[in-house]
Amino acid sequence: MGRKILLVVDMQNDFCHPNGSLYVKGAEKVIEKINKEIRSNKYDQIWATQDWHPNNHISFAENHKGKKPFDTITLKNQETNKEYEQVLWEIHCVPFLKAGCEFAKWDEPEGDSLMKVNSIDDRRFDLIFRKGTNPNIDSYSAFYDNEGNPTGLGDMLQPTDNVYVCGVAGDYCCKFSAIDCAKMDIAWKGTTDFKKCNVFFMDDLTAYVDPFNKEKVHQELKDAGVKIIEVNNERN
Ligand SMILES: [Zn+2]
Repeated sequence: MGRKILLVVDMQNDFCHPNGSLYVKGAEKVIEKINKEIRSNKYDQIWATQDWHPNNHISFAENHKGKKPFDTITLKNQETNKEYEQVLWEIHCVPFLKAGCEFAKWDEPEGDSLMKVNSIDDRRFDLIFRKGTNPNIDSYSAFYDNEGNPTGLGDMLQPTDNVYVCGVAGDYCCKFSAIDCAKMDIAWKGTTDFKKCNVFFMDDLTAYVDPFNKEKVHQELKDAGVKIIEVNNERN
């Protein structure tokens, strides 16, 4: 009954390491839970996204005079002229700057001379998709950027797919990816037979920028037809 796709969103050092520039509290705690899914043989495909910005990116507070992280600015869609809000962030996920853009991987001491390895298992990723590469447009969702342009990843979907979303952050990139995926009409190649995917939001395999957002996020997900699941409460 359709493929099972695990979509691992933005499990990168800047979001997962407690000293990362945009650390999402609790992100390091979901690394091993996600690895368990990656290694489980439950999925036909495992896709991963990476936030990937040039240093002149529009989402960095530093690039806007007098602004600080978590301020918002109003931007204009370059095609439709429609205005929209953009949250500003610390500089994050800039390749070559630091290891921040790389998949989560670091060691830390644990107990007597033991080292704990925190590392997302990227060996089984079938596809790695980088988003936010346009300096002028941010992209929370893996499927559409913040101005509504398709990123191209949606072309890889088939109408009967079951997409399981995990990673960070629950209230930003995971939420928007899940909602966009659930709303997308996908045609079988060469036909006019449009269908939507089944999308599952793995709530215990994510971490939120603001945990107080959780209830609101759940409602938005449900409204879009996304099913919210807790993997560790399921017998599968
Ligand atoms: Zn970003």
